[in-house]
Amino acid sequence: MIPFVDLKSQYLSIKDEIDSAVLKVLESTQFVLGSEVKALEAEFASYCNADYGIAVNTGTSALHLALLAAGIGPGDEVITVPFTFVATTAAICYTGATPVFVDIDPITYTIDVNQIEAAITERTKAILPVHLYGQPADMAPIMEIARRHGLVVIEDAAQAHGAEYKGQRVGSIGDIGCFSFYPGKNLGAYGEGGMIVSNNPEYTHTMQMLRDWGQETRYHHILKGYNYRMDGIQGAILRVKLRYIEAWTEARRTHAAQYNQLLANSGLTTPVALPHNRHVYHVYAVRTTQREWLQQQLNQQEIQTGIHYPIPVHLQKAYADLSYQAGDFPHSELAAQQVLSLPMYPELTPTQVSTVAQSLQNLLQGVPA
Ligand SMILES: *Cc1c(COP(=O)(O)O)cnc(C)c1O
Repeated sequence: MIPFVDLKSQYLSIKDEIDSAVLKVLESTQFVLGSEVKALEAEFASYCNADYGIAVNTGTSALHLALLAAGIGPGDEVITVPFTFVATTAAICYTGATPVFVDIDPITYTIDVNQIEAAITERTKAILPVHLYGQPADMAPIMEIARRHGLVVIEDAAQAHGAEYKGQRVGSIGDIGCFSFYPGKNLGAYGEGGMIVSNNPEYTHTMQMLRDWGQETRYHHILKGYNYRMDGIQGAILRVKLRYIEAWTEARRTHAAQYNQLLANSGLTTPVALPHNRHVYHVYAVRTTQREWLQQQLNQQEIQTGIHYPIPVHLQKAYADLSYQAGDFPHSELAAQQVLSLPMYPELTPTQVSTVAQSLQNLLQGVPA
């Protein structure tokens, strides 16, 4: 069986270090925030070339606090994409603001920068690009448009730890960057986790207070806050794993290159990484008009695949109140029907990659025209 992700083999490869890091936290009893989390904040910020890191309990909380720190609330509009994980939109709604969708570019699956300005109104406060699958959005025009209109830029980098745009690490290009450490993400905790990075000291101070009940000092509640703190155990685990993220990212990139080469003449559309981007392949998604059939056939051959994501957010029942309709974002809708994510994780072997590619080739050659 070739699984879609394999968290077990990664754990086994670093078991001794992880186990002793966890034991250390148990003995220190610093179960919430504490010295391991503080050290992780500094190390992860440095990894992103950002000045500050604020550790939180999930990537969704990271987005929520970033929006609040930017002063976003009821009556405001935030521009983002419908082709993303639902959390991007949910976080905007938590603040009382309204998500305003812009379609994706059909090649990179990130926000179509040529459609942003038409979506700006006098209520627009922020742009929230998503570095989907691990490929950075086109940040230079996004920053230029944002500066011209006085908008804040918050990066959803939940899938893009270590990705680079024109030599700059994502998360530190916009005003605030948000990461998820959900177990299956490129840097995954053994439970939930998230991180916010920023170069802005005021935003940072606000977000540090908001994640911990709005306290400036103990029991002095300056803001109406939340319990969004990171566990000490997750901080310790993530510090160990951060030491391996570059090697794991390079392994993902090598697997992607091998898939690209083996699938070049398959009839599938393989991912396009723009030359100025360092794509970190959280997801390796091909496109096909025969997705359901292919997925089912691969499944029979014990090759697991995924779909990220089958329904764009503007067509989800939960967000019907935003009053979008089918046809509003054609590139997002077509991608949602056609993308198929192949097995992708650092511990995949070249043999497994070629098995997956060969199965796809065989299946596609057997399809009647
Ligand atoms: C995973 C993810 C999130 C949410 O992160 P959680 O840690 O699961 O809350 C937000 N945005 C995107 C694009 C994601 O993939």
